This record gives sequence, C-alpha cells and structure tokens, in this order.
Amino acid sequence: DPQLNPNYTFDNYIEGDCNRLARSAGYAVAAKPGGTSFNPLMIYGGVGLGKTHLAQAIGNEIKRSVPDKLVIYVSCEKFCQQFVDSLKNNTINDFVNFYQAMDVIIMDDVHNFAGKEKTQDIFFHIFNHLHQSGKQIILTSDKAPKDLAGLEERLLSRFKWGLSADLQVPDLETRVAILKKKMYADGIELPGEVIEYVAHNIDNNVRELEGAMVSLLAQSTLNKKDIDLALAKQMLKNFIKNTSKEISMEYIQKLVCEYFEVPVEMVKSQTRKREIVQARQISMYLSKSHTKSSLKTIGAFFGGRDHSTVIYACQTVEDLIETDKKFKAYVNDIQKKLKMS
Ligand code: ADP
Ligand code: MG
Repeated sequence: DPQLNPNYTFDNYIEGDCNRLARSAGYAVAAKPGGTSFNPLMIYGGVGLGKTHLAQAIGNEIKRSVPDKLVIYVSCEKFCQQFVDSLKNNTINDFVNFYQAMDVIIMDDVHNFAGKEKTQDIFFHIFNHLHQSGKQIILTSDKAPKDLAGLEERLLSRFKWGLSADLQVPDLETRVAILKKKMYADGIELPGEVIEYVAHNIDNNVRELEGAMVSLLAQSTLNKKDIDLALAKQMLKNFIKNTSKEISMEYIQKLVCEYFEVPVEMVKSQTRKREIVQARQISMYLSKSHTKSSLKTIGAFFGGRDHSTVIYACQTVEDLIETDKKFKAYVNDIQKKLKMS
C-alpha cells in the first residue's frame, strides 16, 4: 500500500517502559486483526512519541503476514478532506464503500475530528460497519478518549470500546537504544559518549532526538568517528538549550531520580523509604559540590529541611563512598552524567 511507510516496522520500534503496553497490544492486533478485544486499538500520546510509527508497524506487519488483507492507513485530516471532496463531487457512496470494504483501517490523529460533525457522522457509520464485520480499527490521538474535546459522544463511546494505550516519553536507556538503532540502520558509528550526550539532553520527544542526530551528522564534514563530545556539544548548541547553563538543583534532582527510578516528588516528601532517602542524600551532596547554593537553600529546596540535615546527608554520602564500592560507582556514574550537561 502506498499509504504505508515500509520503514515503520516493529523491528525498529524500540521497546521501553514508555511504550510496552501499546507495543504489545499492537503486536497482538497485528497477529490477529479483528480477533482480539483490542478493537478499536487506540494509541495516544504527545507529539513525536511514536504514534504514527507504531500504528503503521501494525499495518506493515499485517501486510507482511497476510498480503491480501486490505489495509488502509489514512490521516484523519486526509479523511476529512476526502469527505468534503466526495460531497462536492457527489461520490459519497464510493467514499463510504471504499472504507467499508477494508479489513483493517488505521486512522491517524483522530483529535482532528474536533468540530467536524458531518465527517464524524460518516466515520461513525463506517466504524460500526467495520466493527460489526469483525474488521480491525486502529486509531491514534494526542489525548486519551476521555480527554478528547469536540467529538460527538456516540463516536467517543465507540473509541473507548477496545483498548486505549498511551505512549510516554522514553527514559534515558530507551533514548540511547533508539539512537543506536537509528545509527546502525544508517550505517554510521558515533562514539558512545556522543550518543549519551544527545540522549541525555534531548529528553522530551523522539522526533527531536532523531533530529538532533541528523543535524549533527549534516553539519559534520569530518569522518563520523571523529565527532567527539566537545564537537558534538558545539554542533548541537542550537538544539540543546541549556548547554552553557549552570547546573541547577532541579536538574540534579531530575538526574538522580531518573537514575534510581524514583518519582521526583518523593525526594521532597517526608518519606523515609530507603531508596528515597538515598536519592535525597545524593541530590543534596551533589548540590553542595556542583552548585553555589548554600546549605540552607539546599535544605529548603529538598523538602524544607534545615542545614544540619544537609550536612548530615553530605557526611553520610562521603562515608558510603569510602566504604561501599557499589555506592561509590553509583555516585560516580551520576556525576559523569552531570558533567555531560
Ligand atoms: P507521533 O506520530 O507520535 O508524532 P512518530 O511516530 O512520527 O510520532 O515518531 C517520530 C519519530 O520518532 C519517527 O521517526 C519514529 O520512527 C521515531 N520513534 C518514535 N518512537 C520510537 C521507538 N520506540 N523506537 C524507534 N523509533 C521511534
Ligand atoms: Mg503522527
């Protein structure tokens, strides 16, 4: 199908905590289109997080395993345009028949239905027809069905029938894996620390992550292997906003929490859970050594504690660095990441 981009496959869709449910539901749907309770399958999440890729991977996988299945991928916007055209040309029947003949329909970005009542009506009928015939419907959207505004209730209620699975921002490890995969696919090799640097600093959106690497390569006239960290930092200045910014306590907190996989809010809370206390103490220790903040400011930042708590935290961390090899490795690791920013 010309509508499906063959580059969007499961194989190059990196799995992480951010997409595990959506990915495995997509895989189940691809193996048994129309034959699971995930109908419709709704994939939702923010811009550049991989909705189109995953939705198309499902379509490509179905075409690969059962080539004669009729799979259509269409953006909601294009569908709306086609509907308006068919009104103008008196070809509504053809339009509806075309979609109702499909085995699988993948509609991208259904939030764009907002306000378009007539198109929603038509899609409502197509949806019902396909669903009743056991055909598979896959939708993507920038919000969960319950948060979609401007859609008719009866259509929304259909959207909630199957499974809604969200895509989150990938964590650091997944971002590194995505970059590596892309690098190998393009036959490029960049030093590990450059990959780490990019993955570290571009942390909100996969499209931008890839964009940063493309820009890095485009600007480089050198052998790719000669792109070192200093060069990468310079080249990506435009991409990475806080390159020359001072290290903030907020950033330290974010880094430490990401490292130990603890929720950021917990560090500032009163909890005495071991791993939280550890994250809090390391954050305080690093704030003391890497920012100009006073003990008082540090204490206040990490949950309204007083300066003696900060002194105690720093002492504890220093003692543990002396006595506990694993702990020392943790702190070194985090410190390395801190210096990359
Ligand atoms: P969305 O439709 O949510 O805006 P896209 O599907 O267009 O996002 O994804 C943006 C880019 O990021 C694409 O190039 C896509 O291949 C890539 N991408 C997103 N998630 C992943 C992932 N988990 N593994 C590999 N590449 C990904
Ligand atoms: Mg998209």
